[in-house]
Amino acid sequence: MLIVKKFGGSSVADKERIFNVATRCIEDYNKGHQVVVVLSAMGKTTDGLLEKARQINPNASKREMDMLLSTGEQVSVALMAMAIQALGVPVVSLNAWQVAMHTTSRYTHAKLKRIDTERIYNELEMRKIVVITGFQGINKYDDLTTLGRGGSDTTAVAIAAALHADSCEIYTDVEGVYTADPRVVPNARKMKEVTYDEMLDFASLGAKVLHNRSVEMAKKYGVQLVVRSSLNRSEGTIVKEEVRTMEKMLISGVAADKNTARLSVMGVKDEPGIAFRVFNYLSRKGINVDIILQSVGREGTKDISFTVAKTDLKDALDIIHENMDAITAKKVEYEEHVAKVSIIGAGMTSNPGVAAKMFEALFGVGVNIKMISTSEIRITVLIDEADTERAMRAVHDAFALGD
Ligand code: ADP
Ligand code: ASP
Ligand code: MG
Repeated sequence: MLIVKKFGGSSVADKERIFNVATRCIEDYNKGHQVVVVLSAMGKTTDGLLEKARQINPNASKREMDMLLSTGEQVSVALMAMAIQALGVPVVSLNAWQVAMHTTSRYTHAKLKRIDTERIYNELEMRKIVVITGFQGINKYDDLTTLGRGGSDTTAVAIAAALHADSCEIYTDVEGVYTADPRVVPNARKMKEVTYDEMLDFASLGAKVLHNRSVEMAKKYGVQLVVRSSLNRSEGTIVKEEVRTMEKMLISGVAADKNTARLSVMGVKDEPGIAFRVFNYLSRKGINVDIILQSVGREGTKDISFTVAKTDLKDALDIIHENMDAITAKKVEYEEHVAKVSIIGAGMTSNPGVAAKMFEALFGVGVNIKMISTSEIRITVLIDEADTERAMRAVHDAFALGD
């Protein structure tokens, strides 16, 4: 069998954990399997690098950010290879260049386009464990790129797809995918299985246990994933197309996303084309807009509010300020300390009570709702960031999702 095993930052945070991972990889190797290992940067390395950059130049170019951020993963793979060598097993570490992992050119948010498999296959042929850097790629300018925070999951799935691996295992610091972040909601329930679609909603709405692009890619190429703990041997959660034990739950889980900020452009003219202009300026800069709320026009003007990622707030504000006249705005307001809390579930369309129940739960713990957005499969509210954990627990309880 060809097995791809991905280990996140906490799983390689120190010497003991590195040897723990090395040992688990060697176990599979000794059973005769071909083993490809994808690693993240150790512990909080990436956060540390971001902070270092901020101290030197908060406006550094994204190209240089990627030059910096991609170093974390290279440290991990080299140390892992050294640990595996120390245990007497042939091994080679490879970075994005050496494999040739081609991405789009957009720095800090690049997308994987193509992975050359030749070098990996050659090393596997020679009976080596192959340890590859997650998160990074190279673009058409021969520069290093990164795939966005949490992107190592996507590297692992892409490699599994490219090599037609028999299994793709994502090892992390929790035992699988839960009905809500188990660190926030202590009675969250571990799911045995979850569909790609549900997992995609979870990931897109803030459950960072899997990078959302990794789920998209797994679905597209039919790569079955298992999410499990690197610290024990428990079974984990299988992510796949169809799940057998469809317990037909109305709501499958709760997710929260603190990487969000609200912007409002106030007093714009109440006439056709204004909303188009606002969102067109933003989209041309690659800024994604999420919840949108427009007030009813009064005396010829209206307000448009929307959310963007916190990490895009500064760029969004700059763009709006540059184009105040074109969008006829009198004033711009923003709020940075907000968060989105969402409930996810395919069963909710046909059930009118779901939204009311969620809002009642929030009211019950005194959490104010700033904005609401709904789709067939989710309801999202924007609230004060400080209320996030309280809100998650209340909503999780209201739908009796726990153990
Ligand atoms: P890694 O470094 O292994 O990639 P991450 O920190 O990126 O790990 O993702 C794992 C974390 O995701 C867990 O520690 C947990 O706090 C968080 N998480 C959020 N939502 C969920 C969920 N629904 N199920 C499991 N973990 C979740
Ligand atoms: N090290 C990167 C990050 O922290 C990638 C990853 O962990 O998946 O975002
Ligand atoms: Mg991660």
